[in-house]
Amino acid sequence: MTAPTVTWLMSAYDATWHAFPSEQIGDDERTFYQALCDHCVPTRHVERTPPRAFCPACLVIYGTHLPDDQRRAWRC
Ligand SMILES: [Zn+2]
Repeated sequence: MTAPTVTWLMSAYDATWHAFPSEQIGDDERTFYQALCDHCVPTRHVERTPPRAFCPACLVIYGTHLPDDQRRAWRC
């Protein structure tokens, strides 16, 4: 299993940064994005700013997909 490639974007709905699959971000046809935690937000309601408040659910889902060697590196 490979780690999902995600982009952290702020949802204007809850002022929280969610992990969105990067293939959604590159798709101009989409009218909304769906985060790993199932949070949905219209594409014009996301903001591309450096993350401050991560969605705990997205963090957990993203973390469980990380390969073990990456996980160990994070712990240092
Ligand atoms: Zn989320």
